[in-house]
Amino acid sequence: MLVIKGRSNTVVEPDEKTLEYEKENEDIPLAKQRYEICKGCEHLTKLRFCDKCGCFMPLKVRIQSVSCPIQNW
Ligand code: SF4
Repeated sequence: MLVIKGRSNTVVEPDEKTLEYEKENEDIPLAKQRYEICKGCEHLTKLRFCDKCGCFMPLKVRIQSVSCPIQNW
């Protein structure tokens, strides 16, 4: 269960759907390669949003035409 406290990102753990997207990305080469970079990046939040572009990264990494806002991929 996802618990949101106020507007901060002080919370907790990603929900089950997020974990499912992450698992699916293991089978999508482009997404896997990009997501590995995001996982090592200081801008990826606990809830898997990028604090530079505001996007939900487990899905953004699948979109071929997009890019990292600081050119990490
Ligand atoms: S998209 Fe770029 S800036 Fe954002 S979390 Fe991934 S690597 Fe970091």
